[in-house]
Amino acid sequence: MNGIAASGRGDPGATPVVVDLHLHTDHAHGTADVRSMYLAARSKGLAVIGFSEHSPRPDGFVYASDYREKLVRGLPDYLREVREIARRGAAQGIEVLLGIEADYLRGHEAYTRDFLAGRDFDYVIGGLHFQGAWGFDADPADWERLSRQERFAVYARYYDDMAAMCASGLFHIAAHPDLVKIFSMEDFNLWLDTDEALPPLRRALTALRDAGMLLEVSSAGLRKPCREIYPGPRIMAVAAELGLDIAFASDAHCAATPAFAFAELARYAAAFGYTYSCIPTRGGAARRMPFSAPPP
Ligand SMILES: [Zn+2]
Ligand SMILES: [Zn+2]
Repeated sequence: MNGIAASGRGDPGATPVVVDLHLHTDHAHGTADVRSMYLAARSKGLAVIGFSEHSPRPDGFVYASDYREKLVRGLPDYLREVREIARRGAAQGIEVLLGIEADYLRGHEAYTRDFLAGRDFDYVIGGLHFQGAWGFDADPADWERLSRQERFAVYARYYDDMAAMCASGLFHIAAHPDLVKIFSMEDFNLWLDTDEALPPLRRALTALRDAGMLLEVSSAGLRKPCREIYPGPRIMAVAAELGLDIAFASDAHCAATPAFAFAELARYAAAFGYTYSCIPTRGGAARRMPFSAPPP
């Protein structure tokens, strides 16, 4: 522990959570550059600021408005700019980490492994955004075409993919662990009530624990149509029961949202018994960062 957890840096209303490991930039589809995101995060009182831009994807995995080419072009600049801002942060007593949010694409593990192998990331977030070539979190109209049973099948496969993602050994953190609910909260909750939901969910979270990974607890869901923290309470209960370690994240894509709703996030995690979040370390045990839940 380096003493920054209780530094009290920032304004009196600053969040007691001082770590945000999930920030995007304008190198993909964010709206602010690395420096602006750093300044915004610092102004929120964060002591550990983790950048986690999207990684390039193999051919065939496209969203309707794809930014893959931009990612490929911008990656060298992203790496250089984050390393530069990390040097500046160190001089100001703030730790900046160079991460990446890499898609988990089942059957394309070699692509991801090759991408990561040549680069010196501090940590890798695994993001499930695709089933096959379908980017399921892009367009609510895709979901309107699915029956309830078809949606249930998507949910189950999501957790099968998460188990495979965790077993791949490529990632330190599982991003937004129920993103699949984004456009169909009602059906997702109905699915969680069924007998078919718990086995794949528990397999995924157990695989996460066995891999020594962290479960992301993200305020991004509060800004999305599902209007709920990722993951929701029933999944958090299983996570707590299994003793999973967590990592806090805003998934900010603009300068207004680093540490977004982190006081709420802290209260939420504390309600499940959590007293610290974690930061991955290279090859060692995750670092623990205590937090306290502020009064509402
Ligand atoms: Zn994501
Ligand atoms: Zn993200």
